[in-house]
Formats: sequence, structure tokens, C-alpha cells
Amino acid sequence: MMHESVSVSFSCPQCHSSGKVAYALWGADGGIRLSASFKCNSCGHTFEADSHDVPEDVRQLFYLENGRWVLKVIELGSNRAATLRGLRDALGLSVAEAGELLRKIPGEVADGTRVEVEVLGRMVQAAGAVIEISRSSS
Ligand SMILES: [Zn+2]
Repeated sequence: MMHESVSVSFSCPQCHSSGKVAYALWGADGGIRLSASFKCNSCGHTFEADSHDVPEDVRQLFYLENGRWVLKVIELGSNRAATLRGLRDALGLSVAEAGELLRKIPGEVADGTRVEVEVLGRMVQAAGAVIEISRSSS
């Protein structure tokens, strides 16, 4: 599954009727895309917005709906340096942070919504690492 969506109550900015904003999150172009769309059933006011990252309050909505997911790296690939570089790129880490990360392997290296973790997992896997994705129990 590389797509998830959630909707939340929202008051129309135009007429203040209550409606719902629908958020959709999916993997695209080696990253993630988030879109928000709203249509008022009373006055017909609409808006749409797109972004490449997920604001914390929206992330919490996805957690409530689909749970929090974790990415585990079981082992680095045979070319450790290349895999580590791939991990750094995928997770956006500094060299120091990558050093920290090494100590966590095998183990959890990132968490997020299901789509975020699946997209990250794909990038890390492409770099040669053996990974595991699971829904967090906490
Ligand atoms: Zn309205």
C-alpha cells in the first residue's frame, strides 16, 4: 500500500458551515506527496493544497487512522559504505547522525505514517539494506 487518506472536520472559511478536509498521502518521485482538499456542501467553496512533507498535526491524524509504522534495518548490504550513504540520503542525516544510526542496526531507524515508512523503506532497500516494516504497537 503506497497510498493512505484521512479526513477531518473543518469549518468552511467562507460560510462557516462544518465540512471535512480530506488528506491523501502517497509515494511519488522518490518522496512523498500530501494533498489536502476541501469542498463546502453549503456554499460550494473549495480549496486544494499540495506539499512534500507532512505537518505534525496531520501526521497525528494518519496515526489515529492507520497507526504509526516503523522501519527496521536488519543489516546493511554487502557494500556497507554505499548502503550507509543511501540510508543517509533517504533519512536526510548528517555524518554524525549516520554514525548514531549504525549503532541502532539491527533495529528501528525511522518511524512515520505507513506511506512515509514504505517510501523510506523502498529507498533504503534500493541502497542494499535488508529491512523490515511493521506497525508499531505503541
Ligand atoms: Zn461554505
